[in-house]
Amino acid sequence: MKAVFFSKPGGIGVLKYGHFPTPKPKHGEALIRVKACGMNHLDIWLRKERMGEPMPHILGSDVAGIVEKINGKSLFKKGDEVVVNPSISCGKCERCQKGRDCERVLIFGAKTQGGYAEYTCVPIVQLYPKPSTLSWVETAAFPLTYLTAWHMLRTRANLQKGETVFIWGASGGLGMAAIQIAKHLGGKVIAAVRSKGVVFSVKKAGADEAVVHSKGKVEEKVKALTNGKGVDVVFESVGTQTWEFSLAMLKSHGRVVIAGTTSGDIGKQDLSQVYVKQLSILGCRMGYRREFEEILGLINKGTLKPVIDSTFPLSHAKEAHQKMEKGGLKGKIVLKIS
Ligand SMILES: [Zn+2]
Repeated sequence: MKAVFFSKPGGIGVLKYGHFPTPKPKHGEALIRVKACGMNHLDIWLRKERMGEPMPHILGSDVAGIVEKINGKSLFKKGDEVVVNPSISCGKCERCQKGRDCERVLIFGAKTQGGYAEYTCVPIVQLYPKPSTLSWVETAAFPLTYLTAWHMLRTRANLQKGETVFIWGASGGLGMAAIQIAKHLGGKVIAAVRSKGVVFSVKKAGADEAVVHSKGKVEEKVKALTNGKGVDVVFESVGTQTWEFSLAMLKSHGRVVIAGTTSGDIGKQDLSQVYVKQLSILGCRMGYRREFEEILGLINKGTLKPVIDSTFPLSHAKEAHQKMEKGGLKGKIVLKIS
């Protein structure tokens, strides 16, 4: 089969487009003919540094495709249109054994081979019917980002109706998902973007206000927009560049949810703010099966709909990585495969 893979971590140049052996499904797995695969920042981190992925490695956590072969018992059969839930519980840890949420969720395409390929093998339990409300490209654009944003805002921050949420990186795939989910939960959204050019896109996705944070102090803009009060929740995935502002703009008893550090892991922090304002810092990683099913329900109803920045053929995955690294996206980048 044709695939995009790399044999050692590094720059965009390590990605190779070429022949790769078509995988064979083990017992309990399905072989999926990939129609589209969404890209995530995770793909860039995995490509740049070795994080325990199998080598040579095929990236791609967000897979939409058609069942080609089933090895084991399943309600699905050859020809069914499916989407993959990328959050795989280990089944072995203490929490899994007690029927609770897994303590070390595995991500499809990170610890397994992924979807930058014509075919991929997926555990049958990770398969769900493709939403009829979405195209193939849209289907491949929602799993990882919507699951992460839902886990952050609904489960961890417990965002309440009428609360204000500030979203960093609002114009990217994760940010757009966060805007839609925050609005669905009844929140007021202040979207932070890097340039004026994407203000229209975040407002179209549902943001009440947009702040261009490269121009002037974010805290002052947030104060002006919240009558000097600050926000209830900050949605963080940027890290070093934004962390000191994130806690500063929270009101008393506010919470920051963090699921990534695209600008670096180290953040400066005045710790007195944390106890004086009684803030909560909530770490988030992916989400769980029941959350994926809740999102799928909202997508099937048409409540949530992923926003697409652009599509690339599989053979142009390098250009897609280049575009993602450059930033300034208006939604998701998706590889169209067959
Ligand atoms: Zn587990």
